[in-house]
Amino acid sequence: MTSSQPSGLGAEYADTASEAYRAALQVIESVEPRVAEATRKELEDQRSSLKLIASENYASPAVLLTMGTWFSDKYAEGTVGHRFYAACQNVDTVEALAAEHARELFGAPYAYAQPHSGIDANLVAYWAILATRVEAPALAELGAKHVNDLSEADWETLRNRMGNQRLMGMSLDTGGHLTHGFRPNISGKMFHQRQYGTDPTTGFIDYSAVAAAVREFKPLVLVAGYSAYPRRINFAKMREIADEVGATLMVDMAHFAGLVAGKVFTGDEDPVPFAHVTTTTTHKSLRGPRGGLVLATEEYAPAVDKGCPMVLGGPLSHVMAAKAVALAEARQPAFREYAQAVADNAQSLANGFLKRDAALVTGGTDNHLVLLDVTSFGLTGRQAESALLDAGIVTNRNAIPADPNGAWYTSGIRLGTPALTTRGFGADDFDRVAELVVEVLQNTQPAAGPNGPSKAKYTLADGTAERVHAAATELLDANPLYPGLTL
Ligand SMILES: *Cc1c(COP(=O)(O)O)cnc(C)c1O
Repeated sequence: MTSSQPSGLGAEYADTASEAYRAALQVIESVEPRVAEATRKELEDQRSSLKLIASENYASPAVLLTMGTWFSDKYAEGTVGHRFYAACQNVDTVEALAAEHARELFGAPYAYAQPHSGIDANLVAYWAILATRVEAPALAELGAKHVNDLSEADWETLRNRMGNQRLMGMSLDTGGHLTHGFRPNISGKMFHQRQYGTDPTTGFIDYSAVAAAVREFKPLVLVAGYSAYPRRINFAKMREIADEVGATLMVDMAHFAGLVAGKVFTGDEDPVPFAHVTTTTTHKSLRGPRGGLVLATEEYAPAVDKGCPMVLGGPLSHVMAAKAVALAEARQPAFREYAQAVADNAQSLANGFLKRDAALVTGGTDNHLVLLDVTSFGLTGRQAESALLDAGIVTNRNAIPADPNGAWYTSGIRLGTPALTTRGFGADDFDRVAELVVEVLQNTQPAAGPNGPSKAKYTLADGTAERVHAAATELLDANPLYPGLTL
Protein backbone atom coordinates (compact mmCIF):
# COMPACT_ATOMS: atom_id res chain seq x y z
CA MET A 1 0.00 0.00 0.00
CA THR A 2 1.52 3.35 -0.98
CA SER A 3 1.76 6.05 1.65
CA SER A 4 -0.27 8.54 -0.39
CA GLN A 5 -3.31 6.32 0.09
CA PRO A 6 -5.22 6.03 3.34
CA SER A 7 -4.25 2.96 5.39
CA GLY A 8 -7.77 2.47 6.69
CA LEU A 9 -6.55 2.93 10.25
CA GLY A 10 -5.63 6.60 9.97
CA ALA A 11 -1.87 6.16 10.44
CA GLU A 12 -1.35 9.26 8.29
CA TYR A 13 -3.14 11.49 10.84
CA ALA A 14 -2.50 9.47 14.01
CA ASP A 15 -0.91 12.35 15.95
CA THR A 16 -3.90 14.61 15.44
CA ALA A 17 -6.34 11.80 16.19
CA SER A 18 -4.42 11.03 19.41
CA GLU A 19 -4.85 14.62 20.54
CA ALA A 20 -8.55 14.51 19.72
CA TYR A 21 -9.16 11.30 21.65
CA ARG A 22 -7.07 12.37 24.63
CA ALA A 23 -9.06 15.58 24.89
CA ALA A 24 -12.39 13.77 24.40
CA LEU A 25 -11.62 11.22 27.10
CA GLN A 26 -10.57 13.96 29.49
CA VAL A 27 -13.92 15.68 28.95
CA ILE A 28 -15.86 12.43 29.45
CA GLU A 29 -13.81 11.66 32.55
CA SER A 30 -14.90 14.89 34.18
CA VAL A 31 -18.54 13.76 34.00
CA GLU A 32 -18.56 9.95 34.29
CA PRO A 33 -15.06 8.52 34.71
CA ARG A 34 -16.27 4.94 34.47
CA VAL A 35 -17.37 5.50 30.87
CA ALA A 36 -13.98 6.99 30.01
CA GLU A 37 -12.31 3.99 31.62
CA ALA A 38 -14.46 1.46 29.75
CA THR A 39 -13.76 3.31 26.49
CA ARG A 40 -10.00 3.09 27.07
CA LYS A 41 -10.31 -0.56 28.07
CA GLU A 42 -12.31 -1.36 24.92
CA LEU A 43 -9.46 -0.10 22.75
CA GLU A 44 -6.96 -2.14 24.76
CA ASP A 45 -9.09 -5.26 24.45
CA GLN A 46 -9.61 -4.80 20.71
CA ARG A 47 -5.91 -4.19 20.25
CA SER A 48 -4.98 -7.34 22.11
CA SER A 49 -7.38 -9.90 20.67
CA LEU A 50 -7.43 -11.77 17.41
CA LYS A 51 -10.75 -10.60 15.99
CA LEU A 52 -12.09 -13.16 13.54
CA ILE A 53 -15.77 -12.27 13.82
CA ALA A 54 -16.77 -12.16 10.17
CA SER A 55 -19.26 -9.30 10.66
CA GLU A 56 -16.86 -6.97 12.46
CA ASN A 57 -14.17 -4.57 11.31
CA TYR A 58 -12.25 -1.50 12.49
CA ALA A 59 -13.48 1.85 11.18
CA SER A 60 -10.96 4.63 10.67
CA PRO A 61 -10.53 7.33 13.34
CA ALA A 62 -11.97 9.77 10.77
CA VAL A 63 -15.19 7.73 10.65
CA LEU A 64 -15.29 7.28 14.43
CA LEU A 65 -14.61 10.95 15.19
CA THR A 66 -17.36 12.03 12.80
CA MET A 67 -19.92 10.25 15.00
CA GLY A 68 -19.09 12.27 18.10
CA THR A 69 -20.63 15.61 17.19
CA TRP A 70 -23.66 17.87 17.58
CA PHE A 71 -25.27 16.32 14.52
CA SER A 72 -26.52 13.90 17.16
CA ASP A 73 -28.69 16.68 18.59
CA LYS A 74 -30.68 17.35 15.43
CA TYR A 75 -34.07 15.97 14.48
CA ALA A 76 -34.43 15.50 10.72
CA GLU A 77 -37.41 13.28 9.91
CA GLY A 78 -38.16 13.27 6.20
CA THR A 79 -35.70 13.37 3.34
CA VAL A 80 -33.11 15.74 1.92
CA GLY A 81 -34.81 19.06 1.16
CA HIS A 82 -38.16 17.78 2.48
CA ARG A 83 -38.04 17.62 6.29
CA PHE A 84 -40.71 17.63 8.95
CA TYR A 85 -38.32 19.75 11.05
CA ALA A 86 -36.79 23.17 10.54
CA ALA A 87 -33.11 24.05 10.19
CA CYS A 88 -31.93 20.81 8.60
CA GLN A 89 -29.64 22.42 6.02
CA ASN A 90 -26.46 20.80 7.36
CA VAL A 91 -28.09 17.41 7.82
CA ASP A 92 -29.19 17.76 4.18
CA THR A 93 -25.55 18.31 3.22
CA VAL A 94 -24.24 15.17 4.92
CA GLU A 95 -27.16 12.92 4.00
CA ALA A 96 -26.92 14.00 0.35
CA LEU A 97 -23.17 13.31 0.42
CA ALA A 98 -23.63 9.85 1.92
CA ALA A 99 -26.25 9.01 -0.71
CA GLU A 100 -24.13 10.40 -3.55
CA HIS A 101 -21.05 8.44 -2.49
CA ALA A 102 -23.18 5.30 -2.19
CA ARG A 103 -24.70 5.76 -5.66
CA GLU A 104 -21.29 6.38 -7.23
CA LEU A 105 -19.55 3.58 -5.35
CA PHE A 106 -22.15 0.94 -6.15
CA GLY A 107 -23.45 2.28 -9.46
CA ALA A 108 -26.99 2.47 -8.07
CA PRO A 109 -29.69 4.80 -9.41
CA TYR A 110 -30.83 5.66 -5.87
CA ALA A 111 -29.43 5.35 -2.33
CA TYR A 112 -31.09 5.85 1.06
CA ALA A 113 -28.61 6.55 3.86
CA GLN A 114 -30.95 6.68 6.86
CA PRO A 115 -31.36 3.08 8.12
CA HIS A 116 -29.86 2.65 11.57
CA SER A 117 -28.74 -0.91 10.96
CA GLY A 118 -28.96 -3.81 8.54
CA ILE A 119 -32.17 -5.11 10.05
CA ASP A 120 -33.73 -1.66 9.75
CA ALA A 121 -32.62 -1.46 6.13
CA ASN A 122 -34.37 -4.77 5.45
CA LEU A 123 -37.58 -3.55 7.10
CA VAL A 124 -37.51 -0.43 4.93
CA ALA A 125 -36.98 -2.61 1.87
CA TYR A 126 -39.84 -4.97 2.72
CA TRP A 127 -42.14 -2.06 3.40
CA ALA A 128 -41.13 -0.35 0.15
CA ILE A 129 -41.69 -3.53 -1.86
CA LEU A 130 -45.15 -4.00 -0.33
CA ALA A 131 -46.00 -0.32 -0.86
CA THR A 132 -44.90 -0.45 -4.50
CA ARG A 133 -46.17 -3.87 -5.52
CA VAL A 134 -49.32 -4.23 -3.41
CA GLU A 135 -50.51 -1.00 -1.81
CA ALA A 136 -50.20 1.31 -4.81
CA PRO A 137 -52.03 -1.01 -7.27
CA ALA A 138 -54.70 -1.80 -4.64
CA LEU A 139 -55.36 1.91 -4.07
CA ALA A 140 -55.69 2.44 -7.81
CA GLU A 141 -58.08 -0.49 -8.08
CA LEU A 142 -60.16 0.81 -5.17
CA GLY A 143 -60.21 4.27 -6.71
CA ALA A 144 -58.44 5.99 -3.81
CA LYS A 145 -55.39 8.25 -3.72
CA HIS A 146 -54.54 7.70 -0.07
CA VAL A 147 -55.22 5.05 2.56
CA ASN A 148 -57.11 7.64 4.63
CA ASP A 149 -59.66 7.92 1.82
CA LEU A 150 -60.64 4.24 1.99
CA SER A 151 -63.92 3.01 3.45
CA GLU A 152 -63.60 0.57 6.38
CA ALA A 153 -64.37 -2.34 4.06
CA ASP A 154 -61.78 -1.29 1.47
CA TRP A 155 -59.20 -0.69 4.21
CA GLU A 156 -59.80 -4.25 5.40
CA THR A 157 -59.30 -5.50 1.83
CA LEU A 158 -56.03 -3.62 1.54
CA ARG A 159 -54.68 -4.84 4.88
CA ASN A 160 -55.56 -8.43 4.08
CA ARG A 161 -53.82 -8.15 0.76
CA MET A 162 -50.68 -6.61 2.24
CA GLY A 163 -50.54 -9.14 5.05
CA ASN A 164 -50.75 -12.19 2.82
CA GLN A 165 -47.81 -11.77 0.51
CA ARG A 166 -45.13 -14.37 -0.01
CA LEU A 167 -41.42 -14.17 0.63
CA MET A 168 -38.68 -16.69 0.04
CA GLY A 169 -35.17 -16.41 1.47
CA MET A 170 -32.23 -18.59 2.38
CA SER A 171 -32.70 -20.67 5.53
CA LEU A 172 -30.83 -19.68 8.67
CA ASP A 173 -28.93 -22.97 9.01
CA THR A 174 -27.57 -22.77 5.47
CA GLY A 175 -26.28 -19.22 6.00
CA GLY A 176 -29.29 -16.92 5.52
CA HIS A 177 -30.16 -14.14 7.95
CA LEU A 178 -33.04 -14.27 10.40
CA THR A 179 -34.66 -11.30 8.64
CA HIS A 180 -34.94 -13.36 5.45
CA GLY A 181 -38.18 -15.04 6.51
CA PHE A 182 -37.07 -17.00 9.59
CA ARG A 183 -40.34 -17.78 11.37
CA PRO A 184 -39.50 -16.30 14.80
CA ASN A 185 -38.45 -13.02 13.11
CA ILE A 186 -41.04 -10.44 12.09
CA SER A 187 -40.17 -11.15 8.43
CA GLY A 188 -41.50 -14.68 8.94
CA LYS A 189 -44.79 -13.29 10.21
CA MET A 190 -45.43 -10.24 8.07
CA PHE A 191 -44.97 -12.52 5.06
CA HIS A 192 -46.17 -16.00 4.25
CA GLN A 193 -42.68 -17.46 4.04
CA ARG A 194 -40.80 -20.40 2.67
CA GLN A 195 -37.06 -20.96 2.64
CA TYR A 196 -34.56 -22.37 0.21
CA GLY A 197 -31.41 -24.12 1.35
CA THR A 198 -28.19 -25.40 -0.11
CA ASP A 199 -27.31 -28.72 -1.72
CA PRO A 200 -26.99 -31.27 1.13
CA THR A 201 -23.93 -32.88 -0.44
CA THR A 202 -21.90 -29.90 -1.64
CA GLY A 203 -23.21 -27.13 0.62
CA PHE A 204 -23.47 -24.86 -2.45
CA ILE A 205 -26.61 -23.06 -3.60
CA ASP A 206 -28.28 -25.25 -6.21
CA TYR A 207 -29.84 -22.73 -8.60
CA SER A 208 -32.09 -25.25 -10.28
CA ALA A 209 -33.47 -26.29 -6.88
CA VAL A 210 -34.05 -22.62 -5.98
CA ALA A 211 -35.76 -22.09 -9.35
CA ALA A 212 -38.03 -25.10 -8.79
CA ALA A 213 -38.96 -23.92 -5.28
CA VAL A 214 -39.67 -20.39 -6.56
CA ARG A 215 -41.76 -21.70 -9.46
CA GLU A 216 -43.85 -23.69 -7.02
CA PHE A 217 -44.25 -21.03 -4.31
CA LYS A 218 -44.40 -17.93 -6.53
CA PRO A 219 -43.16 -15.44 -3.94
CA LEU A 220 -43.64 -11.68 -4.28
CA VAL A 221 -40.14 -11.24 -2.85
CA LEU A 222 -37.10 -13.40 -3.46
CA VAL A 223 -34.28 -12.60 -1.02
CA ALA A 224 -30.66 -13.43 -1.79
CA GLY A 225 -27.76 -12.78 0.55
CA TYR A 226 -26.31 -14.38 3.66
CA SER A 227 -24.48 -14.11 6.94
CA ALA A 228 -22.69 -17.43 6.97
CA TYR A 229 -22.45 -18.83 3.44
CA PRO A 230 -18.78 -19.06 2.43
CA ARG A 231 -19.39 -18.75 -1.31
CA ARG A 232 -20.28 -16.18 -3.96
CA ILE A 233 -23.75 -15.89 -5.44
CA ASN A 234 -24.61 -15.56 -9.11
CA PHE A 235 -27.08 -12.69 -8.98
CA ALA A 236 -27.81 -12.80 -12.72
CA LYS A 237 -29.20 -16.28 -12.13
CA MET A 238 -31.16 -15.16 -9.08
CA ARG A 239 -32.71 -12.35 -11.11
CA GLU A 240 -33.66 -14.78 -13.88
CA ILE A 241 -35.33 -17.00 -11.29
CA ALA A 242 -37.19 -14.02 -9.79
CA ASP A 243 -38.28 -12.78 -13.23
CA GLU A 244 -39.80 -16.12 -14.10
CA VAL A 245 -42.54 -15.59 -11.48
CA GLY A 246 -42.52 -11.79 -11.43
CA ALA A 247 -40.87 -11.65 -7.99
CA THR A 248 -38.98 -8.63 -6.72
CA LEU A 249 -35.33 -9.56 -6.18
CA MET A 250 -34.00 -8.15 -2.95
CA VAL A 251 -30.33 -8.69 -2.18
CA ASP A 252 -29.02 -8.25 1.35
CA MET A 253 -25.28 -7.70 0.90
CA ALA A 254 -24.70 -6.79 4.58
CA HIS A 255 -21.75 -9.14 4.86
CA PHE A 256 -20.04 -8.69 1.53
CA ALA A 257 -20.72 -5.05 0.60
CA GLY A 258 -17.00 -4.34 0.98
CA LEU A 259 -16.20 -6.92 -1.68
CA VAL A 260 -18.76 -5.31 -4.00
CA ALA A 261 -17.44 -1.81 -3.26
CA GLY A 262 -13.85 -3.01 -3.76
CA LYS A 263 -14.72 -4.62 -7.13
CA VAL A 264 -13.84 -8.14 -6.05
CA PHE A 265 -17.41 -9.15 -6.86
CA THR A 266 -18.09 -7.95 -10.39
CA GLY A 267 -20.25 -9.07 -13.33
CA ASP A 268 -22.82 -11.67 -12.26
CA GLU A 269 -21.46 -11.53 -8.69
CA ASP A 270 -22.24 -7.82 -8.26
CA PRO A 271 -25.82 -7.71 -6.96
CA VAL A 272 -26.59 -4.06 -7.62
CA PRO A 273 -27.33 -4.24 -11.37
CA PHE A 274 -29.58 -7.28 -10.88
CA ALA A 275 -31.51 -6.55 -7.67
CA HIS A 276 -34.57 -4.31 -7.58
CA VAL A 277 -33.62 -3.41 -4.03
CA THR A 278 -30.24 -3.96 -2.36
CA THR A 279 -29.72 -3.56 1.38
CA THR A 280 -26.56 -3.53 3.42
CA THR A 281 -24.94 -2.70 6.70
CA THR A 282 -22.14 -0.14 6.62
CA HIS A 283 -20.01 -1.55 9.46
CA LYS A 284 -19.03 -5.03 8.26
CA SER A 285 -16.69 -5.52 5.29
CA LEU A 286 -17.59 -1.98 4.14
CA ARG A 287 -15.67 -0.68 7.20
CA GLY A 288 -17.89 2.26 8.05
CA PRO A 289 -19.96 3.32 11.07
CA ARG A 290 -22.60 1.02 12.56
CA GLY A 291 -25.56 1.53 10.23
CA GLY A 292 -27.46 0.53 7.10
CA LEU A 293 -28.12 1.58 3.51
CA VAL A 294 -30.77 0.78 0.92
CA LEU A 295 -30.03 0.98 -2.82
CA ALA A 296 -32.93 0.82 -5.26
CA THR A 297 -34.08 1.17 -8.82
CA GLU A 298 -36.16 4.23 -9.79
CA GLU A 299 -39.29 2.11 -9.43
CA TYR A 300 -38.79 1.46 -5.72
CA ALA A 301 -37.03 4.73 -4.81
CA PRO A 302 -40.11 6.80 -3.89
CA ALA A 303 -41.32 4.19 -1.39
CA VAL A 304 -37.84 3.62 0.08
CA ASP A 305 -37.54 7.37 0.52
CA LYS A 306 -40.46 7.28 2.99
CA GLY A 307 -38.58 4.84 5.27
CA CYS A 308 -38.51 7.49 7.99
CA PRO A 309 -40.98 8.03 9.62
CA MET A 310 -43.03 5.13 8.18
CA VAL A 311 -40.65 2.40 9.37
CA LEU A 312 -37.62 4.06 10.94
CA GLY A 313 -37.13 6.37 13.88
CA GLY A 314 -35.58 9.78 13.31
CA PRO A 315 -32.35 9.70 11.29
CA LEU A 316 -29.03 9.50 13.13
CA SER A 317 -27.45 12.49 11.42
CA HIS A 318 -24.08 12.00 13.09
CA VAL A 319 -23.97 8.44 11.72
CA MET A 320 -25.05 9.56 8.24
CA ALA A 321 -22.14 12.02 8.33
CA ALA A 322 -19.84 9.14 9.24
CA LYS A 323 -21.32 7.05 6.39
CA ALA A 324 -20.37 9.85 4.00
CA VAL A 325 -16.78 9.77 5.31
CA ALA A 326 -16.55 5.96 5.17
CA LEU A 327 -18.01 5.80 1.66
CA ALA A 328 -15.55 8.46 0.54
CA GLU A 329 -12.79 6.20 1.90
CA ALA A 330 -14.25 3.21 0.08
CA ARG A 331 -14.03 5.14 -3.21
CA GLN A 332 -10.24 5.44 -2.84
CA PRO A 333 -8.04 3.01 -4.80
CA ALA A 334 -6.64 1.68 -1.50
CA PHE A 335 -10.03 0.21 -0.68
CA ARG A 336 -9.86 -2.06 -3.72
CA GLU A 337 -6.51 -3.34 -2.52
CA TYR A 338 -8.07 -3.93 0.87
CA ALA A 339 -11.05 -5.84 -0.54
CA GLN A 340 -8.82 -8.04 -2.68
CA ALA A 341 -6.64 -8.75 0.36
CA VAL A 342 -9.77 -9.73 2.37
CA ALA A 343 -10.62 -12.36 -0.28
CA ASP A 344 -7.00 -13.56 -0.69
CA ASN A 345 -6.60 -13.87 3.06
CA ALA A 346 -9.79 -15.95 3.30
CA GLN A 347 -8.25 -18.36 0.77
CA SER A 348 -5.16 -18.60 2.91
CA LEU A 349 -7.20 -19.15 6.08
CA ALA A 350 -9.26 -21.88 4.38
CA ASN A 351 -6.18 -23.60 2.98
CA GLY A 352 -4.58 -23.39 6.42
CA PHE A 353 -7.49 -25.37 7.84
CA LEU A 354 -7.72 -27.86 5.00
CA LYS A 355 -4.05 -28.76 5.08
CA ARG A 356 -4.43 -29.44 8.82
CA ASP A 357 -7.39 -31.75 8.08
CA ALA A 358 -10.08 -29.49 9.53
CA ALA A 359 -13.47 -29.71 7.78
CA LEU A 360 -15.00 -26.64 6.14
CA VAL A 361 -18.60 -26.25 5.03
CA THR A 362 -18.54 -26.33 1.17
CA GLY A 363 -14.90 -27.42 1.38
CA GLY A 364 -13.52 -23.88 1.26
CA THR A 365 -14.43 -20.28 0.54
CA ASP A 366 -14.46 -17.73 -2.23
CA ASN A 367 -15.57 -14.75 -0.18
CA HIS A 368 -14.42 -13.29 3.15
CA LEU A 369 -15.46 -16.04 5.56
CA VAL A 370 -15.00 -19.70 6.36
CA LEU A 371 -17.34 -21.96 8.28
CA LEU A 372 -15.39 -24.51 10.25
CA ASP A 373 -17.25 -27.72 11.10
CA VAL A 374 -16.01 -28.57 14.61
CA THR A 375 -17.74 -31.94 14.92
CA SER A 376 -14.54 -33.64 13.75
CA PHE A 377 -12.86 -32.27 16.90
CA GLY A 378 -15.68 -33.82 18.95
CA LEU A 379 -16.85 -30.37 20.04
CA THR A 380 -19.93 -28.18 19.79
CA GLY A 381 -19.63 -24.66 18.40
CA ARG A 382 -20.25 -23.34 21.90
CA GLN A 383 -17.32 -25.32 23.36
CA ALA A 384 -15.02 -24.33 20.49
CA GLU A 385 -15.96 -20.65 20.73
CA SER A 386 -15.29 -20.56 24.49
CA ALA A 387 -11.98 -22.43 24.28
CA LEU A 388 -10.76 -20.12 21.50
CA LEU A 389 -11.73 -17.10 23.55
CA ASP A 390 -9.64 -18.41 26.47
CA ALA A 391 -6.67 -18.22 24.10
CA GLY A 392 -7.48 -14.66 22.95
CA ILE A 393 -9.11 -15.69 19.66
CA VAL A 394 -12.51 -14.07 19.14
CA THR A 395 -14.85 -16.01 16.81
CA ASN A 396 -18.51 -16.84 16.91
CA ARG A 397 -20.27 -20.15 16.93
CA ASN A 398 -22.59 -20.67 14.00
CA ALA A 399 -25.02 -23.34 12.84
CA ILE A 400 -23.95 -25.56 9.95
CA PRO A 401 -26.48 -27.00 7.46
CA ALA A 402 -28.83 -29.46 9.24
CA ASP A 403 -26.95 -28.74 12.46
CA PRO A 404 -27.25 -31.67 14.92
CA ASN A 405 -26.74 -29.28 17.87
CA GLY A 406 -29.32 -26.65 16.91
CA ALA A 407 -28.95 -22.88 16.67
CA TRP A 408 -27.81 -22.30 20.28
CA TYR A 409 -24.93 -24.79 20.78
CA THR A 410 -24.26 -25.28 17.05
CA SER A 411 -21.54 -27.33 15.37
CA GLY A 412 -19.66 -24.61 13.56
CA ILE A 413 -17.32 -21.68 14.03
CA ARG A 414 -17.53 -18.77 11.62
CA LEU A 415 -14.32 -16.89 10.93
CA GLY A 416 -13.86 -13.87 8.71
CA THR A 417 -10.89 -11.89 7.43
CA PRO A 418 -12.18 -8.26 7.14
CA ALA A 419 -11.03 -7.01 10.58
CA LEU A 420 -7.54 -8.51 10.72
CA THR A 421 -6.95 -7.55 7.07
CA THR A 422 -7.60 -3.94 8.09
CA ARG A 423 -4.86 -4.39 10.71
CA GLY A 424 -2.52 -5.44 7.91
CA PHE A 425 -2.54 -9.24 8.29
CA GLY A 426 -1.37 -10.98 5.12
CA ALA A 427 -1.69 -14.51 3.71
CA ASP A 428 1.10 -15.98 5.89
CA ASP A 429 -0.43 -14.47 9.00
CA PHE A 430 -3.77 -16.11 8.21
CA ASP A 431 -2.09 -19.48 7.73
CA ARG A 432 -0.65 -19.02 11.20
CA VAL A 433 -4.12 -18.07 12.51
CA ALA A 434 -5.49 -21.36 11.15
CA GLU A 435 -2.64 -23.20 12.86
CA LEU A 436 -3.43 -21.53 16.20
CA VAL A 437 -7.16 -22.23 15.93
CA VAL A 438 -6.49 -25.90 15.18
CA GLU A 439 -4.01 -26.09 18.06
CA VAL A 440 -6.66 -24.84 20.50
CA LEU A 441 -9.37 -27.17 19.20
CA GLN A 442 -7.09 -30.20 19.24
CA ASN A 443 -6.35 -29.46 22.89
CA THR A 444 -9.99 -29.01 23.89
CA GLN A 445 -12.05 -31.86 25.34
CA PRO A 446 -15.77 -31.86 25.99
CA ALA A 447 -16.48 -32.10 29.72
CA ALA A 448 -19.43 -33.48 31.64
CA GLY A 449 -21.79 -31.31 33.65
CA PRO A 450 -23.58 -32.37 36.86
CA ASN A 451 -26.17 -34.30 34.78
CA GLY A 452 -23.89 -36.03 32.29
CA PRO A 453 -22.44 -34.92 28.93
CA SER A 454 -22.60 -31.17 28.32
CA LYS A 455 -22.72 -29.20 25.09
CA ALA A 456 -21.18 -26.18 26.82
CA LYS A 457 -18.53 -27.45 29.23
CA TYR A 458 -14.99 -28.25 28.13
CA THR A 459 -11.46 -28.51 29.36
CA LEU A 460 -8.46 -27.00 27.67
CA ALA A 461 -5.14 -28.83 28.09
CA ASP A 462 -2.76 -27.09 30.51
CA GLY A 463 -0.65 -24.35 28.95
CA THR A 464 -2.56 -24.21 25.66
CA ALA A 465 -4.31 -20.90 26.30
CA GLU A 466 -1.09 -19.21 27.42
CA ARG A 467 0.98 -20.63 24.54
CA VAL A 468 -1.54 -19.68 21.86
CA HIS A 469 -2.23 -16.29 23.38
CA ALA A 470 1.48 -15.51 23.29
CA ALA A 471 1.70 -16.54 19.63
CA ALA A 472 -1.39 -14.46 18.79
CA THR A 473 0.13 -11.47 20.58
CA GLU A 474 3.19 -11.69 18.34
CA LEU A 475 0.96 -11.46 15.26
CA LEU A 476 -1.04 -8.59 16.77
CA ASP A 477 2.06 -6.63 17.77
CA ALA A 478 3.39 -6.90 14.23
CA ASN A 479 0.11 -5.45 12.90
CA PRO A 480 -0.96 -2.80 15.41
CA LEU A 481 -4.52 -1.52 15.62
CA TYR A 482 -4.56 2.26 15.06
CA PRO A 483 -0.77 2.59 14.80
CA GLY A 484 0.46 5.83 16.31
CA LEU A 485 -2.73 6.40 18.25
CA THR A 486 -1.87 6.96 21.93
CA LEU A 487 -4.38 7.88 24.60
C1 LIG B 1 -25.55 -8.46 9.95
C2 LIG B 1 -26.66 -8.69 9.04
C3 LIG B 1 -27.86 -7.99 9.16
C4 LIG B 1 -28.18 -7.15 10.36
O1 LIG B 1 -27.44 -6.04 10.53
P1 LIG B 1 -27.61 -5.17 11.87
O2 LIG B 1 -26.85 -3.93 11.56
O3 LIG B 1 -27.03 -5.98 12.98
O4 LIG B 1 -29.05 -4.90 12.07
C5 LIG B 1 -28.83 -8.17 8.20
N1 LIG B 1 -28.63 -9.01 7.16
C6 LIG B 1 -27.50 -9.72 7.04
C7 LIG B 1 -27.36 -10.63 5.87
C8 LIG B 1 -26.49 -9.61 7.97
O5 LIG B 1 -25.39 -10.34 7.85
